[in-house]
Amino acid sequence: LYNMLQEMRGNIRVFCRIRPLNSESISSIEYIGNDGSIMVCDPSKAQTTRKIFQFNKTFGPTTTQDEVYMETQSLIRSVMDGYNVCIFAYGQTGSGKTHTMCGPSGGLSSNDLGVNNMALNDLFTISTSREDMKYDIRVQMVEIYNEQVHIRTSTNGLFNIPDAKMCPVQSPSDVMNLMLLGEKHRSSGPTAMNNRSSRSHSILTVHVNGKDMSGNVSCSCLHLVDLAGSERVDRSEATGDRLKEAQHINKSLSCLGDVITALAQKNSHIPYRNSKLTQLLQSSLGGNAKTLMLAHISPEGESYVETLSTLKFAQRVSIV
Ligand code: ADP
Ligand code: MG
Repeated sequence: LYNMLQEMRGNIRVFCRIRPLNSESISSIEYIGNDGSIMVCDPSKAQTTRKIFQFNKTFGPTTTQDEVYMETQSLIRSVMDGYNVCIFAYGQTGSGKTHTMCGPSGGLSSNDLGVNNMALNDLFTISTSREDMKYDIRVQMVEIYNEQVHIRTSTNGLFNIPDAKMCPVQSPSDVMNLMLLGEKHRSSGPTAMNNRSSRSHSILTVHVNGKDMSGNVSCSCLHLVDLAGSERVDRSEATGDRLKEAQHINKSLSCLGDVITALAQKNSHIPYRNSKLTQLLQSSLGGNAKTLMLAHISPEGESYVETLSTLKFAQRVSIV
């Protein structure tokens, strides 16, 4: 049955990750199953209704970075075989998206790595170990803020990013340096503002060109996406720029949900054009491409409303 469900779900996987509970808070997580199930409740209510969700995997608060990477490794390695792969970190601000993707220091230290660096290390190791193939690896970093990124349609009908520099990289340390540079630009650029990173989508794209002994070429992409925080802002509190940001984020995240759901349901129309994010990733969503949604949860009872909303979003994209 499990394999049959996998078949039906096609190339879309959903994992849930719960970060450790902040002290002095009561957890909304009742139970985590080995089968990917999770049970939550609102601890502030005396009479609580328990809600159960089921994903491909659910990682509890003691799960290490390595353990998370182990479960994504085969997907990431399939990029070397010509598959396009998108990995999205979804969740409210503070739920651990950047921790998963860039590591505890947000990519600023090489001691404790996240999925991004582990993936690149892995791809480099494979590229140097395979004698039957020659690989060329390049990376791009792009930020989408308020639906702004310069996109144009190229001759083959796909989107590309002319303003984003395509950087050839030879080693994991090249990538580390590039990421540090990207991170610096992100936090100190002319439009930098406090905590802007939680209100923008950050995309690290790895382009892999492979050539085999008989000269056949394959090119594929791995997109590692740290999404903007999914929390709803209170309309009475948000005004002006903050409200505009919130509306852009809500729209682009719901578009992403619509696209993945449409793909899971094998609809004939996939609404890629409704947001910059889905336009940008169009060629890597659908078809043979593989998608992994990493839904992040803040376990504190105070976050219950957002937790429920994240779990519902994740369930919507995971079920046919
Ligand atoms: P987000 O990017 O979703 O806003 P962060 O990744 O910045 O959230 O995480 C918020 C805080 O929680 C950070 O201080 C981070 O180090 C910590 N944190 C997140 N996930 C974990 C985890 N799995 N284990 C330990 N600490 C974590
Ligand atoms: Mg973050």
